[in-house]
Amino acid sequence: MRVSKPISRVVIVGGGTAGWLSACLVAAHARRSADRPLTVTLIESPDVPTVGVGEGTWPTMRGTLERIGISEKQFLLACDASFKQGSRFDGWVTGASDDRYHHPFVAPPAGHPRDLVAAWQVDAGPLPFAEAVSAQPRVCQLGLAPRQAAMPGFAGALNYAYHLDAGKLAALLAGHGTRQLGVRHIRDHVDAVVRDDGGDIRAAQTRTSGEIAGDLFIDCTGHAALLIGATLDVPFRNRSDVLFNDRALAVQVPTPADSPIASQTVATAHAAGWLWDIALPTRRGIGCVYSSAHAGDDQAEATLRTYLGRAIPTADTAGLPIRRLAFRSGHRERFWERNCLAVGLSAGFLEPLEASAIVLIELSLTALLDNLPATRDAMDLHARRFNELFLYRWDRIVEFLKLHYVLSAREEPYWRDHRDPGSVPDRLRDLLRLWQDQPPSSYDLPHADEVFPAASYQYVLYGMGFPPPPGAQGTVPSGVRNGLTQARQRARVLASSLPTNRQYLDALRLAAATPTPVEHVT
Ligand SMILES: Cc1cc2nc3c(=O)[nH]c(=O)nc-3n(C[C@H](O)[C@H](O)[C@H](O)COP(=O)(O)OP(=O)(O)OC[C@H]3O[C@@H](n4cnc5c(N)ncnc54)[C@H](O)[C@@H]3O)c2cc1C
Repeated sequence: MRVSKPISRVVIVGGGTAGWLSACLVAAHARRSADRPLTVTLIESPDVPTVGVGEGTWPTMRGTLERIGISEKQFLLACDASFKQGSRFDGWVTGASDDRYHHPFVAPPAGHPRDLVAAWQVDAGPLPFAEAVSAQPRVCQLGLAPRQAAMPGFAGALNYAYHLDAGKLAALLAGHGTRQLGVRHIRDHVDAVVRDDGGDIRAAQTRTSGEIAGDLFIDCTGHAALLIGATLDVPFRNRSDVLFNDRALAVQVPTPADSPIASQTVATAHAAGWLWDIALPTRRGIGCVYSSAHAGDDQAEATLRTYLGRAIPTADTAGLPIRRLAFRSGHRERFWERNCLAVGLSAGFLEPLEASAIVLIELSLTALLDNLPATRDAMDLHARRFNELFLYRWDRIVEFLKLHYVLSAREEPYWRDHRDPGSVPDRLRDLLRLWQDQPPSSYDLPHADEVFPAASYQYVLYGMGFPPPPGAQGTVPSGVRNGLTQARQRARVLASSLPTNRQYLDALRLAAATPTPVEHVT
């Protein structure tokens, strides 16, 4: 009988957010499963920089940090991080000064979506949908933190994620992974990938450290996709026919120590794309995302500078370096091929709208570790299932991002092109027809762990002025009606009890800088 090869050596190539999250999650998993000895090696090129952006996360990051064994305090301090409670979209419908809506992380109260929309229509007066069904938009408007300092780490009065400094996150994970979790770190460039007779990857050939052999390889080489693309030749599925953005300009603006820290990512539409604005305790990360088919680099830079002048008029931004990034909207046709899993940018990237990239890294690792094959024999079956699940997820994300564009009434060519029926995926077109009759529901998004659940679609749809279905003025069950009343009451209570982001994070820094008094026993 053939003895199948055990999976005991995991080799990760790439040391950006994807590489270090993968290394820490696999190593922490190995520590918890003593019966499955695993070694984890991460190889990181000293010559290829990380992409260095990616500052908006999802609530999943709290569980990820907890699994890895990093405390919330340690993370907030080390990564210059702040709290994120969703996104606000400015100017996406008409571009008028009062054109804005929220996509919060807190889901609407339980109830049938039709009843929820009816309760909003009947009971909530002029309140926009998100503000009628969730306390979180109000908390964000006031710049409040989602938790009080006395709460246990990672617990909140409201669901939340983080904004962070990507470089500092990679450094924190690298220190923790190597010192606490036993990750072997090799700083070397991978020159070639060596395959065995059957076609699997046998080793990464490094410039000075020799061959690093493994049983399972995780490709975290970013856009280079050295293993999944250049070696295993898995085709790339281009999605730029649906999502046009392919360029970004990014700038970091230092902010005064007493400046407010916004509780949400602010995404502001412009003539050929949108701008992100992410506030950390010491700086704002601001970027202009655009389609090179609709705007030149100079035009995009002018848009960015106009925004900077308006959003931070007191800052001298003229001399700040602007990073220029180019990307291709799309993803691999398969993410797990043979004994190689692609995670992060090597697997694909669409655009930063709704920050779906880091959460896909986390979800990929969860799916891998929940099903970690013991031997090579089972691997192809796991790979097939993984690929089906993640193709489903990428397709849903493409549709959800496109939704933000097709609902716009803006008239610039970029926005008109986005509404061209030929650029709208068939499934999204059908759903838009269906949502004229009934609100988005779990029948439209039937997986238990959808990346964007029906609630997210409701927030975007009604935030952008999509008409509620006919009959949404009917009788409302009292449970749903109470849910909306409670959301408004909760907004008032939280407004008077939560600290601002700035107060919370300043107090955290002060406490960390203050030496703990030593007790002298005489
Ligand atoms: C403009 C923009 C904004 C974004 N904003 C967000 C956001 O708000 N939220 C979010 O979730 N995501 C965002 N993302 C995506 C996010 O930045 C990435 O998903 C994340 O940083 C992971 O990148 P990575 O680790 O896959 O790749 P990279 O950071 O590019 O790292 C690649 C690594 O591979 C190594 N490498 C490459 N070649 C070799 C070789 N031959 N040998 C050895 N090592 C090698 C490099 O040294 C590096 O360490 C954004 C992306 C862009 C472009």
